[in-house]
Amino acid sequence: MITRAPAAAAAQRFDLAVVGGGIHGVCLALQAAERGLRVLLLERADFGSGASGNSLRVIHGGLRYLQSLDVTRFRESVAERRWFARTFPGLIEPLPCLMPLYGEGLRRRVVMRAALTVNDALSSHRNDGVAKDVRLPGSATFGPAAMRRRFRQVRADGLEGGALWYDYHMRSSERILTELLHAACTLGVQALNYTEIKRIRVQDGRIQGLEALDRIDGAEYRFDAERICNCTGAQARVFAAEQDRDYRELFIPSLAFNVLLDCEPLSRDALAVAAPERGAPVYFLCPAPFGVWAGTEHVGRPESCRDAVVSEAEIDAFLGRINRAVPGINLSQRNVRAVYCGLLPVRTPGSTDLTARECCIEHAEHGGPAGLYSLTGMKFTTARRVAERALAKLFPGLRPSAAPCGAAVRPLSAATALLLDGARVSAMDPLDAMTFIRDTAAAESVMHPEDFFLRRTNWMFTAPQPAMLERLIATALVATPVESAPRKSSAHPVHSWQRS
Ligand SMILES: Cc1cc2nc3c(=O)[nH]c(=O)nc-3n(C[C@H](O)[C@H](O)[C@H](O)COP(=O)(O)OP(=O)(O)OC[C@H]3O[C@@H](n4cnc5c(N)ncnc54)[C@H](O)[C@@H]3O)c2cc1C
Repeated sequence: MITRAPAAAAAQRFDLAVVGGGIHGVCLALQAAERGLRVLLLERADFGSGASGNSLRVIHGGLRYLQSLDVTRFRESVAERRWFARTFPGLIEPLPCLMPLYGEGLRRRVVMRAALTVNDALSSHRNDGVAKDVRLPGSATFGPAAMRRRFRQVRADGLEGGALWYDYHMRSSERILTELLHAACTLGVQALNYTEIKRIRVQDGRIQGLEALDRIDGAEYRFDAERICNCTGAQARVFAAEQDRDYRELFIPSLAFNVLLDCEPLSRDALAVAAPERGAPVYFLCPAPFGVWAGTEHVGRPESCRDAVVSEAEIDAFLGRINRAVPGINLSQRNVRAVYCGLLPVRTPGSTDLTARECCIEHAEHGGPAGLYSLTGMKFTTARRVAERALAKLFPGLRPSAAPCGAAVRPLSAATALLLDGARVSAMDPLDAMTFIRDTAAAESVMHPEDFFLRRTNWMFTAPQPAMLERLIATALVATPVESAPRKSSAHPVHSWQRS
């Protein structure tokens, strides 16, 4: 159970309070609990409602880092990809990625063949300890005819062949985050969503805890904690500035977004396509049970940007580039079922040059309160490892956990399988479905029907008619206290999940 019990939490003393319930905050809370620490996790909106709920859901093996010869980052991505496969075999699936090659620059067949050979050699341990049905095959390149067989609509001009490699797609990043949260709570983590931090409490230059507002009933609480880690993603810099001072290196924002398209899959593979103009970005078109994921588009933003909002013009420009990449696809905004967006950290203001490493600040090193830390990372894929490094900085000398990270993650249950299968739920007797929804909502700290639909299930893209399930959830949860929860738009200004 993920039990929301603020009064009980206020009566305890914690070793660590983690602020922010995205993937970095959840991974940090879990690993701290695995080491025997008493942990409080506070999230001002719903768990996973920030950038973590907006990703393209790809667990990257880091092929692109070979381009910049960043072998350390490559190896880390491969190791973390394997961790996901071992820990969540039912929640991820191998993702064949297919890139048409046109004989230019790095996208020449000879170059890709060499890169994929290195990729396979350096990731030769990728399947160690991984269940058979989610093991990743080796990569391949092939000629134009084979390429056309896999992707009929491939742009023909100058086609030299194709490259194929494998990553994972998360069937539901929402469930992965929630399952990590379940594991953390099993180990004693107190997790409170809709809890907004008002101020940190400092005495004699040391953290004592924090004061927070329960956004469900308006009550105020004082929590005692020896250390606080600010894992508030795009808000980390604002949080640090409010509680101590501005640290620019924490977060210079850029916008990133994906769209969920209502269109037939073009291939069984995820297509890595680019418009013909020189330097055009590569986008992935990943098939989903109902629809296609397209992304990720990156757009520069001024340094002062705080909210992830995509303009109509930016969506049009993005669709235009996909239309140029895939002849005959003819996408327009009518095909866009939903836009998922978030802010990501970049090196320089206005650019889309993403930072390569996490940033972990110990505020005391800069004259701030002892026991206050801030952490920002860049990838869902590497969040576990980033949190592990941060934990070593927060608690030097902490003894390693006896069990591997994620050992407390429960195996995929029949109930979780339903949360991954909107089509099956759509076919259920509505009364049974509503009972199931109520039971799950009670066990997973759902405060609002939208929390359930968007962040405890993947029904948005696995149901033939997601709106029908959305209505069913609203009916099932209408008689519960969730009605008093604030709407997401006011609850969480950073997250800008947009429905067209
Ligand atoms: C469009 C897009 C596509 C992406 N695709 C991929 C991909 O395919 N693969 C991949 O590996 N990565 C991907 N990423 C990157 C990845 O999603 C992010 O790096 C990661 O989710 C960031 O997690 P986080 O926990 O740091 O931040 P967040 O998920 O934003 O979490 C921060 C949390 O802090 C909360 N918060 C903020 N202020 C406060 C406060 N004062 N008090 C309490 N809580 C607060 C927020 O509500 C939020 O829930 C993508 C990102 C985007 C935006």
